[in-house]
Amino acid sequence: LGTFAQDTPQGVTLHIVQRGDSLYKLSRQYNVTIEAIVTLNALENPNVLKVGQRLLIPSLVATVAPTPTLPIFHTVASGETLFRIAQRYGVVLTALAQANGIVDPSLIYAGQRLLIPTTSASTPATQALYPSPIVQIALQPTFFTEGRTGLVRVVTDVPATLTLIAFDRTLKPVNPTPLQHLFFVGVPVFTPSGSTILRLKFADGQEFDISVPVVSGGYLTTNINVSPEQQALLSPAVEQFELSLLQELTQRFNATMYHRGIFSLPAASPMNAPFGTRRSYNGGDVTRYHNGADFASAPGTPVYAAATGTVVLVDVLNIRGNTIVIEHGAGVYTLYAHLASIGVSLGQQVSMGQVIGTSGSTGRVTGPHLHWEVWVNGVAVDPIEWTQTVFLADQ
Ligand SMILES: [Zn+2]
Repeated sequence: LGTFAQDTPQGVTLHIVQRGDSLYKLSRQYNVTIEAIVTLNALENPNVLKVGQRLLIPSLVATVAPTPTLPIFHTVASGETLFRIAQRYGVVLTALAQANGIVDPSLIYAGQRLLIPTTSASTPATQALYPSPIVQIALQPTFFTEGRTGLVRVVTDVPATLTLIAFDRTLKPVNPTPLQHLFFVGVPVFTPSGSTILRLKFADGQEFDISVPVVSGGYLTTNINVSPEQQALLSPAVEQFELSLLQELTQRFNATMYHRGIFSLPAASPMNAPFGTRRSYNGGDVTRYHNGADFASAPGTPVYAAATGTVVLVDVLNIRGNTIVIEHGAGVYTLYAHLASIGVSLGQQVSMGQVIGTSGSTGRVTGPHLHWEVWVNGVAVDPIEWTQTVFLADQ
């Protein structure tokens, strides 16, 4: 008697491993997935099964998606109560009463034909939406916009190590508690409208895909004329060099959030060029876009830190001129360009509203202004959204 199988009330079958058994063979024999067997038995090395090893095999009921079942009817026998019938079929009393339009459970009669609600119909709340250990996934906002920021909140029922793959980037979470995992997602400009897949990856290899709608940012297109002396700076190589530098800098992840709540504006002057505008230089191709917001600041006007953080770059760049980058934690950075003067140093802690320099016209400009960028995990996003939307509230 090499094998013996026995049904248990839990919908689980016990299988004792025989010579020649493999998980693949068992999955075919019992019509369950290999993963289901591995999970149920917490197998650390699924490739090695030992003869005599006891394996629990999930039953079909537990592993196969519910299929429409024929309705079950019960004919009430003399002396039976609704409570006893509910118990017999394992359904909730109120669900049984509701399914049959019974207002007073004491008013049933022998010979009455009762519809027994199915488990799925009577207790939809107990059906898991997500595979363990995921309890909840919430998106803010519920759809993403090209060039803006999205927040993915994942709640697990045990502490877990996980990352999120979004737009070809691997994002790490901020964990306000060990069971909460927050991912800030920068949605790159030029992301086509439609739906995108965000992939959660757990340390143990488990994956879960989240489908998110993405809509257009509705950005306009504009032509910018630059002087012959500035032509050299239009070279894609010059622009790409700076973008690569900033991408690398802003992909450095620090799980500490230095700032909560909305950002303040970096200048008192009005914004005169929004983020996202598609740009053609001297009538050329539209392959670039305005990756910040411009403020019409006169030279020497104070520039303010938009949020609390640490200065991680003070440099003179070809296009952006005198530039400051501040890290705010959670992969969020702000950048201030074309400055006339810089009043902070590398590594300095700054607070929201602190004067960090003055605006000017250094770098590639057509006139004095402050150019302000927000980067989220290596993606430039609309900075104005961060002055209007709370992504992480005070706690
Ligand atoms: Zn600008």
